[in-house]
Amino acid sequence: TVRWGLIGASTIARQFVIDAIRAQADGEVVAVMSSSPERAAAYARENGIPAAFSSLNALLDADIDAVYISTTNELHLEQAVAAAKAGKHVLCEKPLALTSGDARKILAACKAAGVVLGTNHHLRNAGAHRAMREAIAAGKIGRPVAARVFHSVYLPEHLQGWRITKPEAGGGVVLDITVHDADTLRFVLGEDPVEISAFTQSAGMAGSGLEDGAMCVWRFQSGLIAQSHEGFTTKFAGTGFEVHGTEGSLIARGVMTQKPVGSVTLRTATGEEELSFDREDLYTRSLRAFHAAIRTEGKPSATGEDGVWSLACAEAALASAKTGRAVTIETGL
Ligand code: NDP
Repeated sequence: TVRWGLIGASTIARQFVIDAIRAQADGEVVAVMSSSPERAAAYARENGIPAAFSSLNALLDADIDAVYISTTNELHLEQAVAAAKAGKHVLCEKPLALTSGDARKILAACKAAGVVLGTNHHLRNAGAHRAMREAIAAGKIGRPVAARVFHSVYLPEHLQGWRITKPEAGGGVVLDITVHDADTLRFVLGEDPVEISAFTQSAGMAGSGLEDGAMCVWRFQSGLIAQSHEGFTTKFAGTGFEVHGTEGSLIARGVMTQKPVGSVTLRTATGEEELSFDREDLYTRSLRAFHAAIRTEGKPSATGEDGVWSLACAEAALASAKTGRAVTIETGL
């Protein structure tokens, strides 16, 4: 059995991750930690979790094997390093930290402690993205030359908190959504980006100088170029992901989301074909891979290195937006 402790009484844990742990035959949620004792107790009660703590050390002293970190982003570093030092496996939310340098510290701490580190980039687990990756790897679109990601959403009212008001907590759409697009592009294309150019905006939702919209242009190792759009303020945009190759195009719609929904169409000289794909819950699949990694039978869906990569991309995008220049993506890995 893998006994999990939750660090952070968060929305994402309540909506997806607690269920995903419990969906594993060998997964148990045994404790939750919140900075507030009242919220910890209420969260534990509402979600049927046996133990509630309001200090990190108390949680790490409990009889747990792994932690899931879903606090606000400025807290991930300290919590992940402490958990690793306590010998707990770490599944951490994205961004792993506020800078890629700090993310590398988490990676180093987990390596030194011999514990598994995973980054919860859920989109890699989507059947749609796996079908696209497989189609590309199988040569179905020839040589991929360009990609487009549409990932501008409307931030629901209940989430209009730190993401749009607190730069010090790692708010802003780039750390929130561009990191996912970076990871999904790398996963689907099977190659790494080298350079990014970005414009960001404050379209009326985010305050405190934070961005709530971004458009990025990416260059990949092979010479492929990509564009991505991330936003909090567009109610009716819909999401999508396209990859265009010399012999065909993959056109996915409604796939940049937490649910196993959407469609993927392969368009070639012979016409259009709707690709069928696995509709398993993304987080359940992520947890299954993480449990397998604990048993040394595989890797997490997205590793710590993948988390460093996505954060390095986001960092480069923010630097580009600030300077008005294209920025080389450096992971330091
Ligand atoms: P929440 O705002 O729901 O929770 C973050 C923290 O805010 C909690 O740890 C909690 O602190 C505090 N908090 C929550 N509710 C309240 C409240 N009513 N009053 C005061 N404080 C409160 O964040 P999300 O769940 O949206 O995001 C958490 C992390 O997960 C982030 O790193 C985010 O980037 C990531 N995320 C990842 C997603 C994915 O699909 N991979 C999707 C959504 C988020 P405390 O624990 O101290 O109580």
